[in-house]
Formats: sequence, structure tokens, C-alpha cells
Amino acid sequence: MTAVVNPWIKAYLESGTVPALPDGHLIDGKVVPSLSAERMEIADPGTGHVFMSVAAGGAADVDAAVASALRGFRIWRDTAPVERGRVLARMAALMLRDIERLAFAETVTVGKTYTESCNNVRSAARTFEYYAGAPDKLQGDSIPLGPAQLGLTLLEPLGVVAQIIPWNYPITTFARGIAPALAAGCSVIAKPAETTPLTAVMLAQLLCEAGLPAGACNVLLGLGTVAGAGLSAHADVAHITFTGSPGVGTAVMTAAAQHYASVTMELGGKSPLIALADCDIEAAADGAVAAIYENAGQICSAGSRLVVDKRIHRALVEAITVRAGRITVGHGLRGSSMGAINSRRQMERILAFLDQAKTMGSTVAFGGARHVNSIDPDGWFIQPTLLDDLPIDHPCVQEEIFGPVLSVQVVDGTEDALRAANSTRYGLMAGIYSKDIGAALALARDIKSGQVTINNYWGGGVEVPFGGVEQSGFGREKGFAAVASYCRTKSLVAKVPYSQNARV
Ligand code: NAP
Ligand code: MG
Repeated sequence: MTAVVNPWIKAYLESGTVPALPDGHLIDGKVVPSLSAERMEIADPGTGHVFMSVAAGGAADVDAAVASALRGFRIWRDTAPVERGRVLARMAALMLRDIERLAFAETVTVGKTYTESCNNVRSAARTFEYYAGAPDKLQGDSIPLGPAQLGLTLLEPLGVVAQIIPWNYPITTFARGIAPALAAGCSVIAKPAETTPLTAVMLAQLLCEAGLPAGACNVLLGLGTVAGAGLSAHADVAHITFTGSPGVGTAVMTAAAQHYASVTMELGGKSPLIALADCDIEAAADGAVAAIYENAGQICSAGSRLVVDKRIHRALVEAITVRAGRITVGHGLRGSSMGAINSRRQMERILAFLDQAKTMGSTVAFGGARHVNSIDPDGWFIQPTLLDDLPIDHPCVQEEIFGPVLSVQVVDGTEDALRAANSTRYGLMAGIYSKDIGAALALARDIKSGQVTINNYWGGGVEVPFGGVEQSGFGREKGFAAVASYCRTKSLVAKVPYSQNARV
């Protein structure tokens, strides 16, 4: 729990309004309203009430943002690599300087706890720090073609890159996409989710303060179907990094295909945490709780399925429910340990899954309903929930719920665990808990997933490439792989005058 010392929190809890946060697009280094003057309302998920409005972009704003990004690209691409790195390093420092303001804005729009938001700011600053080291180390290859030809590969930035960002991790998703794109020399246009627009604009302002040329990072606010679709279809956008639902991902790929833009697809997941019979039950319980109740389960890589051996099933479920019982649900600025669901629509979607499970006669071992909070009775809260012993074809095993709902699958032995783990159309993340490292490594080899952790569900950091297989998407973010995905290779072959006699 974080003590209330942040002046932004104090002012907001006393007045219910926010002091001067940016409320427009950031285009050409300036916060601007929509050309149509259209606006959209922003609600605090913890109170369930609207507290401000921001610009909502239309087609003319899309064009203005892309024109600015094209101008910004020409300047940024030609900025010395060492200076590009320094801008990213200054950005990391500025984010930590402004951590209170950023974390406040993140919590009041996303609904997560202030502690989680502070951790997200630190992690995003670390992302900029990591990529600050990249621009002057991006090297191509020399290709052996014999003495009469010189063969080289040159790495060129792709151009204008659109980043379409969801509502669950606005700050870290911004950093994960934009830091490597800028490191590669691309310019960017971020389109944050309609419910969480504030921190993208604040981060773009900090990039300007860090010395990024105007136009190299723009933020376009607005609805996905207007601003997001407009960016995806724009002929001058060279690449789109999309994080969100598979259905919208397909729409973005279809639009990108019309103008031959490349894409990175970071889609959903239904990731298993596998607890083998020999695992440390307390450690697995800690891991499972962190994997599903962090950010109230609104995480693409959440461990939303517990695949547990029947020999430890009862003991592990008991250990998880004890921990779930200690979770306090409430407004993210009031010191709770689990915050709100981002929107009423998403809360209702989660509740529909829970109603369906109850109708099917499934076992609700913990929670299972809306949480009504006496201080914020209109807040969008769901109880931490555990649905026990579900069959493989249960909707809560197959569908991404995107809420604090852990679905338990009971298995008999390692082979059965592998079968259960690989039983969905997704493949983003998998956690394995076992004391037998050989068994864990064999499972890691055979599991259908972009990443696997052993005995530490959230292991790793920005250094580790991240992405999905099958319906979880493709392309890799994080790690050095991410910088490469914002570059294209130009091959250069030169004929070189050659005479064997003249060589020593
Ligand atoms: P979403 O609709 O896929 O939204 C992701 C982003 O795409 C948002 O910025 C959204 O803008 C934008 N968008 C929407 N329609 C678009 C279009 N036609 N063209 C271009 N961009 C468009 O996801 P959601 O509605 O926020 O959540 C729905 C489900 O997606 C969740 O329940 C969850 O299962 C999944 N999800 C996954 C992740 C992840 O990290 N993998 C993150 C969030 C959600 P708007 O905000 O205006 O819609
Ligand atoms: Mg949406």
C-alpha cells in the first residue's frame, strides 16, 4: 500500500476534478483540439463517474498527425545516432521525475492501483533506458562476395509508425512500442484507447522536453473505429504495431494490406500456469495470485488458467483462496490492493462469463460477482474469482475474459498437463512450477507459447523478447528484436576494381 502523499491524489480525492492535465492531441509538439472540435468524455473506473473530456479525432486530424510525422521522420532519421540515444536516456529520467503525476493520471483513467501505476512508470522508464543504448549500436553486415565486389546490408528506419494501444497498460505499452521505434529512427503516432488517453499525451510532452524534434512523436486521440481505423488505412503509415483484441487486429491487418504496410500483432491470451505434483505449493500460489489478480486480470499475458495436478489440486486451490481473501478491492487511489475494471462495458462482459458459468453449474470456489464498495458504490469492481475444476471446452477455459477470473483445469501427470495447456487457440505466455527442472524444461520445449517462465510467472524484463503464436499474434516486442522490427534491410553490392597482380 502507498501512503497518500501525492498532491495530485489529494486534490482529486478532495474535489473530484483533476488539475490541468492535457486534453488534446499532441501534433507537431503542441497540444491541440480536434479540427472538428469534437470531444469525448473520460470516466474514472474507480468512481464510475465522468471527470473530464478530451479531443476526439476525425479524418482531418489523422491527416494532420501523419503529415507532422512525415516531417518529423525526416529530421529524426538524420539526427546522429548518439544524440537519438541521449534523447531516450533523458526521457527515462524525466519519467521518473514526473512519476507522481503520471501514475495519478494512469490510475484515474485505467482504474488500477496507484502502486501498480508507479511500478508501470518505473518499468516504462527502464524501457527507454534500455533502448537509449541501441541507436549507435545498430549495425548491418558485410557479405563475403570475393575481392571484386563489396557486399553490405544497411539498416534503414521504416518511416512513420502507428502504435494502436489498449487501455490496460497505457504507459508501458507506449514505451514498449515507441522507444524501439524511435531508437531505429522512425517517427511515431500513438493512438491510445478511448478510455485512457491522458498518459500518452503526457509522455509525448516529456519526449519533446527530452529534445525529440516536433513531429517525431505525435498522439492522436479518438475512437478506434475513427482515429485507429484512419491511421491503419493511411497510405503514408509504413508500419502498425497493434495491441488489443484478435477481432480488431484482423481489421487492422486488412486495412494495412491495402497499402502494403507491415504489422506487429500483440493480441490476447489464455495463458496457463502449470503446477506439477512436485512443485512448491506456496510459491505456486503466490505466482498464481500475481498472475491473475494483478491489474484485476486485465493483462494480455495474465495466467488466467491454472493447470494443476490432481495430487495437489485441493492444497493449491486452498492456498490461492486464502490469498484471494486478503485482497482488498477498491478505488486505486485509496490504497486498495486490487483496483477497478476499466469500463462498465468490460465489467458487464466479465459478469456475463460468470453468469454463464453459474448457469452451467460450475464450481465458484471464490468470488464470482460484482464487488460493491461502500466508499465508491458506482465503481466498476469485480471480486477476485476462482472457478474450479472446469472441463477443457468450458467458455471460461477457452475465451479471454480479461478480468480477475482464474479458471482451474485439473490434470493427471505431465503429459495431461501439456495437453490441457495447449488446448486453446491462444499462445502468449506459460508459467511452469516444478522442482524437477528436467520435467519443466521438457514442458517448456513442447508448450505452444511465445514465452515460458519457470518457477516465477512474471520473470524477465525489457531485455526478453515478447510476442505470441496463433491467435495471440506475431512479431516480437521488447529485447533487441524489437528495434530490428522497426528497420528494413537495404542490401548494397558494389563492383570494386580488382587486379590480383596489384595485391600484396
Ligand atoms: P480493442 O477494441 O481491440 O482495442 C485496442 C485498440 O484498438 C484501442 O486503441 C481501440 O480504440 C483500437 N481500435 C478499436 N477498433 C479499431 C479499428 N477498427 N481500427 C483500428 N483501431 C481500433 O480492445 P478493447 O475493446 O479495448 O477490449 C476488448 C477485448 O480485447 C478485451 O476484452 C480483451 O480480451 C482484449 N484486449 C487485449 C489486450 C492485450 O493486451 N492483448 C488489451 C486490451 C484488450 P478504442 O479504445 O476506441 O476502442
Ligand atoms: Mg474497443
